Formats: sequence, structure tokens, C-alpha cells
Amino acid sequence: MSKRVSHVRREALPWRPGVVLEQTECGRPVGDRPVMSRADWSVVAREWNELTRSYRVARMQIPAFMTRPNVCGTCWDTCSRWPSWERIPIRALYRELDAFGWYPTGRDAARMCQELWALGRLATDMPDRFGRLVAEFDLGYRRSEVFGV
Ligand SMILES: [Zn+2]
Repeated sequence: MSKRVSHVRREALPWRPGVVLEQTECGRPVGDRPVMSRADWSVVAREWNELTRSYRVARMQIPAFMTRPNVCGTCWDTCSRWPSWERIPIRALYRELDAFGWYPTGRDAARMCQELWALGRLATDMPDRFGRLVAEFDLGYRRSEVFGV
């Protein structure tokens, strides 16, 4: 009997604390499927990528007994394609906003507009605090690694 494939739970935007999405990164309802967090997937993926990179660098074929961790392939690809909020928030937000299409309508679109207006209002109502927070997110090494600047 084969081991059950684990899926990756989709995460809510950070300004929605306490919201736990009942959806996987591959678009399925969580239900009773085994799921892992995005953070856990990052660890698994990093280890797998480092392992396979060492074989590629050595120009060796990856042995057949070494199989990718037992994670849903669609979840894996989606997580690879869409970085987390913690890694690249632009991409995470783009993914959320792109789902609304060119002419956003409906309750979810209205909610997103309210939240974005509220975020903008927070920044304008508390410019000093906002400025300090922006400065706190010093990108350090990530600036060149991720953004190339
Ligand atoms: Zn999946």
C-alpha cells in the first residue's frame, strides 16, 4: 500500500488573522486529506532541491530509489510558482488579486477592496509608525538575492 500524498494548505493573507483556509494549494478542499503548512513544505522542498542539485553538479543521475517527497505534485508546482507572503509578498498578493480578473465583482472582491483601503488608511493615519515598520523590514541579503538590487 502506498503512502498517502500530502497536500499543502493554502494560507490566508496576513491581515486576516485567525482565518484558516480549508483549501489546498492544488485547489482541493482540505477535508480529511493529509496537509502540511507552507512553511513545512519550504523545508522539504529546500532539502530536496539541495539534494538533487548536488547530483546535478556532480553530473550524476539521481538514483531511482530517491523519489521526490510524498507531496502532491500540483501543490508542489503551485508553491514553487507562487512564493509565500513571507518570501515575496508582491507575488502572493498578485496571485490573490489576479483571481478577481480584470473586472472584480462579488463579495470577495468588495472585501478585498475594503481591506486594501483600510491598509492605505492605516498608513496615512499613522505615517510615523508606517515609516518605522517599513524600515524594520530591512531586506538585508534578500535584497540582492530576491530583488537583484
Ligand atoms: Zn495538492
